[in-house]
Amino acid sequence: MEATLEVSLKDSLKRVFGYDTFRGTQEEIISHILGKNNTFVIMPTGAGKSLCYQLPAIVQEGTAIVISPLIALMKNQVDQMNAVGINARFLNSTLSKSESNKVKKDTISGDIKLLYVAPESLTKEENVEFLKQAKISFVAIDEAHCISEWGHDFRPEYRRIKDIIGRLGSIPMIALTATATPKVQLDVQKNLSMDDAKLFKSSFNRSNLYYEVRPKKEAKKQLIKFLKDHKGESGIIYCLSRKKVEEIASFLQVNGIKAEPYHAGLESKVRMKNQDAFLNEDADVIVATIAFGMGIDKPDVRFVIHYDAPKSIEGYYQETGRAGRDGINSYCLMFYSYNDILKLEKFNKDKAVTERENAKFLLEEMAAYADSTVCRRKQLLHYFGEEYEVSDENCRGMCDNCLHPKEQYEGQEMIQLVIRAVKDTEERFGIDHISNLLAGKNTDHVKSYGHDQLDVFTKGKEINEDEYFWRSVIRQTLLNEFIKKDIENPAVFKVSKKGTDYLEKPYPFYLSKDHEYTTDGEEEESEKAQVNVSAFDKTLFDMLKALRKDIAHREDIPPYVIFSDPSMEEMSTLYPTTMDDLKQIVGVGESKAKKFGAPFLELIEEYVEENDIITASDVLVKSSGTKSKNKIYIIQHIDQMMDFEEIADARGMTYEQVINEVENICYSGTKLNIDYYIDQLMDDDRQDDIYDYFLNAETDSMEEAMEELQDDYSEDEVRLMRIKFMSEYAH
Ligand code: ADP
Ligand code: ZN
Repeated sequence: MEATLEVSLKDSLKRVFGYDTFRGTQEEIISHILGKNNTFVIMPTGAGKSLCYQLPAIVQEGTAIVISPLIALMKNQVDQMNAVGINARFLNSTLSKSESNKVKKDTISGDIKLLYVAPESLTKEENVEFLKQAKISFVAIDEAHCISEWGHDFRPEYRRIKDIIGRLGSIPMIALTATATPKVQLDVQKNLSMDDAKLFKSSFNRSNLYYEVRPKKEAKKQLIKFLKDHKGESGIIYCLSRKKVEEIASFLQVNGIKAEPYHAGLESKVRMKNQDAFLNEDADVIVATIAFGMGIDKPDVRFVIHYDAPKSIEGYYQETGRAGRDGINSYCLMFYSYNDILKLEKFNKDKAVTERENAKFLLEEMAAYADSTVCRRKQLLHYFGEEYEVSDENCRGMCDNCLHPKEQYEGQEMIQLVIRAVKDTEERFGIDHISNLLAGKNTDHVKSYGHDQLDVFTKGKEINEDEYFWRSVIRQTLLNEFIKKDIENPAVFKVSKKGTDYLEKPYPFYLSKDHEYTTDGEEEESEKAQVNVSAFDKTLFDMLKALRKDIAHREDIPPYVIFSDPSMEEMSTLYPTTMDDLKQIVGVGESKAKKFGAPFLELIEEYVEENDIITASDVLVKSSGTKSKNKIYIIQHIDQMMDFEEIADARGMTYEQVINEVENICYSGTKLNIDYYIDQLMDDDRQDDIYDYFLNAETDSMEEAMEELQDDYSEDEVRLMRIKFMSEYAH
C-alpha cells in the first residue's frame, strides 16, 4: 500500500509539475498530511512550501482550502495551478456576487481541487454555511506566522481561523511559514490547537544566494556598474525612504535602465502598474521600500540590493530571501555605512523606551553583521538558532567573506577572557558593558559595579584598549557558542556549556579581524563573484525568454507561469526538439508541454538547424536517463565550481568517467569553464606549456600529445588542459 502511494506521488510530481524528485522533506510532509495528520511546516522562502499542499490536494478526493493573507498573491497562485492543468480558484472580496456563486457551486460539485480563501472571506457567516456543504480534504494555512502577534505581519482575522474550521468538523490542517523564531512557532501552534502537530523544520540556509556587503562609497556609480553587468536580469533595490526610492528610480531611468519605483506613498493604481511591469518583465528593476515584496512571488529575481542598511537581520534575511526562489544562483548585495545606522537610530527617537532599546539592539546586530569578516551565512543562520560549520565545502565562496578571507589571529586567550568576563559579572550584562570592561575603560557603569576591580579588567586592557576590538571578539565568541544570548532578554549574555568546558580545556581558536570600512582608503574592487556564469546557451535562452514574454502578454499571465528560468536554462543546454524531449526538461509536466510547448519547440528547432547543433535526441539515451542526468549534473556543478572528485563521489562515477563525460559535453558543443579546477592543480607556467602545445599542434589527439608531453605531465593534466583549450578555442 505504502509503496504504491509513493510511486503514485512521484508519478504525479513528474506528470503535473515536471519534477523528478522531491526537495528536502516535501515527500514526508505530503505523506503526513495525506495520513490526515496535523502538520506544521517551517521552511525558508523558495524551499518549495506550496507543493506541500498542492500535491496532496491533487491526489485526493474533495477540495483543499488554502488560506492565504494576500489577495494580490491569490490570482497568481491560481494562474500557476491552472497552467499545470489543475482546477484551482479563489474566493475573496474582488469577486462579484455571481462570480463567487459560481466558485461555490463548482466547489460543492467537487470540480475544484484547490480553493484559495482570504481570511476575511473565511470568517463570513454565509461562507461558513457554504463550506459546510463542501467536501474538504484538508485546510492549508499559508504564512501562518500572521497568527502571532510576535511575528512581523500580525493579522487579527487569522486568530479566528481555528474557530471556523472547528465548526466544519474534524479536518486535518497544515500550517506553513517562513518565519523561524521559536516564540512565534509556539504561539501559532497554540492558537490553532495544533500542539500535537508534527513539526517539519528545514534549514534556513539558502545555498544559492551569494551575500556581499560593500562600503557605501560612490554607491551610485557602483550600482550602475552592477546593473550593467546584470543586464536583462530581474532585481529589487531596497531603499529606506520614499524620497530615496524616487531619487534612485529616476537616476536609473536616466541611465537607461528599465526601473520603476514602488512605495506606500504612490497611488495604488501606479503601484499596481509598476508591480505588474516588474512581473511581466517590462521593467527589469523595481526600486522599493520594504513595503514591496511580501506580495511578490516572482521566482526568478536574480538580485536583491540594499542601497541603505536594513533595520534588522531578520528583515535583511526576508528581503534577500526574495532572490533566487527558483534555486538558481542569485546575488544579494548590501551597501553599508555606519551613517545609515545612525540615521535609522534617529528615526527611533520618538518611540517608547523599550521599543527604542529593542530597535537599537537590532540595529547593532545589523552593523555587527556588516563589519564582521566571518562567513555571512554562518552569521545569518546563527541568528536563527542554526549552527553552521563553515568549510570550503559548504559555503563554496558564496559570500564575500569566504571568497576573500581576511587575516586571522590566534584568539584562545581572548575568548577565555570574554567567557570569564561574562561569568564574573554574574551573567547580567550585554555587549556594551562587557566590551568596556575588557578594554579597561573606567566608565561610570563599570565603576559603579566595582568591575574595575576584576581580574579581567586588567588582563583585557593589557591585550587591547580598544572596546571595538573587544566587541568583535565578543561577537565571535557568541557566534561560536562559547557564550549565548539569554532567551528572555537577548541583550544579556550567559555562558554556555561549551564555554565552561573551554575555560577548563582550551584549544587554539582563530578569530577574524573586522572590516575597516571607514578607514579603508582604496575602494575595494570587489571581484565579480562567480554567480551567473553559465554553461547554457545564452543566445537561445534570451530568445526563449523573449518568446515567453510575448506569449505571456497575449495570455495575460506572468511569464514565469509558462516556463521557469531553470526549465529554459535546461532547454538551452539540451535543445529539446520533440514533445518527448520537452517533457524530460525539469519543471515541464504533461500539461505545460501540451499547453505551451509547441512554439518553444519550433523556435529551438529553427535555432538548432541554423547553428548546426547536436540536439537532445542525438545525445540522450532515452531509456536509461541516468546518463543525461549526469550530464546535466556535471554542467550545473561545474558552473558552481565543484571539484571533479566531488562530482564523481556525488554521482557514483569514477574520476575517469567524469573527465570522459566533461570531454563529451565539451566536444558536443557546450562551453565549459573549468579554470577554477585546473588552477588548483597546476601553476600558470605548467598550464601555459600544455596550452601552447595544443595551440601549435596539428591535431588534438591525446596520443600525440602524450608522446610530446609525457615526461613532464600526467595524462589527466593534459586532458584537462585539452578541455580548456577546446572550450576556449573551438567554440
Ligand atoms: P516557497 O513558497 O517555499 O517560497 P515555492 O513553493 O514558491 O517556495 O517554490 C519555489 C520554487 O521551487 C518554485 O519555482 C517551485 O516550482 C520550485 N519547486 C518546488 N518543489 C520543487 C521540486 N521538488 N523540484 C524542483 N523544483 C521545485
Ligand atoms: Zn561564507
